[in-house]
Amino acid sequence: MTAKVHAPGEAAEALESPLLAAAGFSHAFFTRRGGVSAPPWDTLSFAVALGDDPAAVRQNLERAARRLGIPAARLYYLSQVHGVAARVLAGDEDRDDVVREVGDITLSRANGVGCGVRSADCAPILVADRRSGAVAAVHSGWRGTVLRVVVEAVRALRSLAGAGAELVAAIGPHIEACCFEIGEDVAADLAACSSAGGAAIVRGASGPRPRADIRRILRAQLAEAGLDHGAIDDVRGCTACDPARFFSYRRDGQRSGRLLSAIVAGRTVIS
Ligand SMILES: [Zn+2]
Repeated sequence: MTAKVHAPGEAAEALESPLLAAAGFSHAFFTRRGGVSAPPWDTLSFAVALGDDPAAVRQNLERAARRLGIPAARLYYLSQVHGVAARVLAGDEDRDDVVREVGDITLSRANGVGCGVRSADCAPILVADRRSGAVAAVHSGWRGTVLRVVVEAVRALRSLAGAGAELVAAIGPHIEACCFEIGEDVAADLAACSSAGGAAIVRGASGPRPRADIRRILRAQLAEAGLDHGAIDDVRGCTACDPARFFSYRRDGQRSGRLLSAIVAGRTVIS
């Protein structure tokens, strides 16, 4: 009868990694719920370029920052281009300037700085160093996965964190093997970009086209970058077949909203 009204106090909904939480890192893989954007960006979307109301996205950003426990001015993300460029953040940058910069990795070791990436089928990966408190957020779609962007992110994070880093990582919701049909050319590229090899390509069962298991590839790449399997968490969810919780470019096309995933540098000390 009437449109759903989102009360000003409603909270941004997010999934968490038990591994990152146990290590003391404030972080969130936000779902699409708990924001204020109107359809088709309903409700917790983070992209204005697609036509969403900038005031709504600003309100969504405030809610996300509140959930992370930092000011919205310290919650950063870039304009992503499926590449491997990294941006180190000190926390004194203007976030509206940073969002116009191009890159697919945000990093920081400054306490209270939130590093984010936006996605709508691509995989978000959050990485943290238990020792220094440095963090990275990584955007890895199939192109970034072929370019091994998560390996580049770990290299950049180790460089920022200094010697003796003890890394933990979580791979968030993305278009999973149930839905991610690909062509043979992409299948060949994805089979060649990690030690998972052809085992990351699923054939048969649900149709003639191959499907990609991006999560398996990312786990293999993180292992190649030096992380133990026990230091890699899976925060599950398929963006394409769960419209209640996630935006999906493949499902919704150009007008799909954008999910945010973010992690805050520095650990919460529980006394
Ligand atoms: Zn699916």
